[in-house]
Amino acid sequence: MEKLLKKLVEAPSISGSEKNVRDLIAKELKPHASEIKVDRIGNLIARKGRGKPRIMLCAHMDEIGLMVKHIDEKGFIRFDTVGGWDQRILLAQKMKIYGSKGPVVGVIGSKPVHIQEADEQKRSVKLKDMFIDIGAKDSKDVEKAGIKQGDFITNYGSFNTTKRGRVTGYGLDNRIGCTVMIEVMKALKSFKGTVYAVGTIQEETGLIGVRGSAFGIDPDVVLGLDTTIAGDMPGVKPEEATSRIGEGPVMLVKDRVMIVNPRVKKWIEDTAKSIKIPIQYEVLDGGATDASITPTVRDGIPSGAVLVATRYIHTPVEVADMKDVKNAVKLVVKLVQTANKYF
Ligand SMILES: [Zn+2]
Repeated sequence: MEKLLKKLVEAPSISGSEKNVRDLIAKELKPHASEIKVDRIGNLIARKGRGKPRIMLCAHMDEIGLMVKHIDEKGFIRFDTVGGWDQRILLAQKMKIYGSKGPVVGVIGSKPVHIQEADEQKRSVKLKDMFIDIGAKDSKDVEKAGIKQGDFITNYGSFNTTKRGRVTGYGLDNRIGCTVMIEVMKALKSFKGTVYAVGTIQEETGLIGVRGSAFGIDPDVVLGLDTTIAGDMPGVKPEEATSRIGEGPVMLVKDRVMIVNPRVKKWIEDTAKSIKIPIQYEVLDGGATDASITPTVRDGIPSGAVLVATRYIHTPVEVADMKDVKNAVKLVVKLVQTANKYF
C-alpha cells in the first residue's frame, strides 16, 4: 500500500492538470472495475457491481500548486497560488514549472540574511514580492525553455518513510484518499449494489469536479475520502483540532460547509464498532471536502466522509500514519458491504 501511495505522491497533479494521477488510478483500477471512463471535465469514474444501493466513493486527485503569472525582462517569474497555501513557507523552495518543453527546475529566491535590515528579518516576505529563478538571462530565455503565462508549477514530489510506519511527502492530501479508494476497489469482492470510485478534479480550488460527477451518477450516498487536519503537534491547542495521527480514521461530523447526514453518521458509527476500528470525530470551523457539497447536488444526496488525520497539511512535509490509511480501507470496505441496510 505504501508503494502505491509513493507512486501517487511522485506524480505531479496540480488542480487543473490532474492527468498524471488520473492515469495511475485508471491503470490500478482496470482489473478491478467493470467500467472506467473520464467525464467531460476530467473526473475519473470507475464502476463495479450493479443495482441498488448506488454508493459513490470520491477522492480528489488534485494538489495545491502555483501558476506562472508574469515573466519580467530579466527572466524572473512571478506566480499566483492555486489552492490554499501558507505564504510563509513558499520561500527558498525548489519548484518545477511544467512548460511546453517539459519540467524546468526553478527556485523561489530570497534576499540573503547578511544584507537584510533588522526589521526585514522580523517580517515574512509577501507572495507579491516572491519570484522564481530558473537560471534564465532574460524573458526570451524563459520563453525558449517553453515557459509562458498560465503554466503550472508544483513542488518537488517527495515521499519518505519516517519512524513507526509514518510517511511524509508533498500531496499526501489527497493521494492518501486516492490510495484508500484504489485499495477498497481491489479488496471488494462481495457486496450488494453498485460502487462508483470517482477521482475528482479541482477540489482544492472550490470543490469543482465533484458536483457534476455526483449529478451524473445520482448515487444514494456519497462517501468522501480525504485527509484532514491533525492537531497533535506543538502550538495547537486540543480544542483547535482534535484529530491525532495513528488513532484511527476520522469521521467528518461538521466542517465549514456541511454537517454529516444522520443516516450516514449512524452507518459509519455502527460499522466501525462492528469491526472494532477506532474512529475519531471531526468538528471544525474551517475546511471543506468534496462530500461537503454533494448534499446540495440534485434533490440532495446523503453524504459523509472518512478522513485520515495528517500533520502539517498543505505543506511539502505532510505527515500521516499508514496504520490510519489501512484502517480507513478496512472501514470503507465494510461500509460498502453494509450500505444496503442503510440506503
Ligand atoms: Zn484534500
